[in-house]
Amino acid sequence: MTFTGPYSLDAARQLLRTPSDSRGELYAAADALRAARMGAEVHIRGIIEYSNICANDCLYCGIRRSNANVRRYRLDADEIMDVVRRMPSWQQGTVVLQSGETTSPEHDAWLGELVRRIKAETRLAVTLSVGNRPRDVYAFWRDCGMDRYLLRFECSDRALFERLHPDCTLDARLQCLRWLRELEVQVGSGFMIGLPGESDDTLADNILLCRELALDMIGIGPFIPHPDTPMDGQRNRFHDDPEMFFVALAVLRLFNPRAHIPATTAFDAVFPGTGRDLALQRGANVFMPNNTPGRVRRDYLLYPGKPCVDEESGQCAACVLARLGAIGRRVGSGPGHSVGLRSPLAGRGVSR
Ligand code: SF4
Repeated sequence: MTFTGPYSLDAARQLLRTPSDSRGELYAAADALRAARMGAEVHIRGIIEYSNICANDCLYCGIRRSNANVRRYRLDADEIMDVVRRMPSWQQGTVVLQSGETTSPEHDAWLGELVRRIKAETRLAVTLSVGNRPRDVYAFWRDCGMDRYLLRFECSDRALFERLHPDCTLDARLQCLRWLRELEVQVGSGFMIGLPGESDDTLADNILLCRELALDMIGIGPFIPHPDTPMDGQRNRFHDDPEMFFVALAVLRLFNPRAHIPATTAFDAVFPGTGRDLALQRGANVFMPNNTPGRVRRDYLLYPGKPCVDEESGQCAACVLARLGAIGRRVGSGPGHSVGLRSPLAGRGVSR
């Protein structure tokens, strides 16, 4: 099977309906396209979840501000730097600093200073993922050395987005993505698969929106209900057909040949021990091991069943190398920057 467009809602819808006995062909097409456009290398980007403090109350999220069962933490800069300095020896070319969203200017300044330290002491690329912030804050972080920013839109259906995110609108989220692109920061976004209330059209439209946004990186993962949230007890709409997560991933690759697509941790939560490996064979080309110090990993549970919460960074680093070796893939050299889709955000992506 080959797919060369049209990149339309209808085409995405049709591909998402690929029957079970033809999914192997779909996966093979996505894998071949990944190999042709992105190569055999897998870039490793280590994540440090440096704080679980969040001002927002997203309905699905385990660290939402209303969850009183969470023990809140923020790592100090020296502890983060201890991990960062070890990353090159783990063959990791990028550090991803992730936290809940805060509106504090002190935190903005602290984070900028941390980025400066990382750039001064290492050759790592720096990705930040800390939510919606004003344009001038993004500009400040870029001037400190930030290379990339990750901000998932999660759901392209405006009404559903706003039900799930009481503190945010879809327009505001897309505006942030536009600012980042204007600032010439490499932009990552993505969405959740199987949200209750999502339709087949929403999923197809999520994939199309990623293409329209011309993203440098796209992260997706299944919705997994968290017991300490208002969505406790709700089921992923693909609960009885979890292979659909891979179908969505493969279609995403067909629609976005030159984007970096990570095999996200949530795939391992649904398919323990194999999910991320399978994702790498069905369109993904990036692996993001957890580098968060073990003592706080259990306090950053965005969803239950998150893998690797009992490990330390060094163990995860060794594990990822073994997993890549087992599927015949080699580690990417250098930082693994964007391969080129840098057109300005245009069309409906910014006007929704
Ligand atoms: S999804 Fe992000 S912004 Fe929303 S509650 Fe969780 S950490 Fe906060």
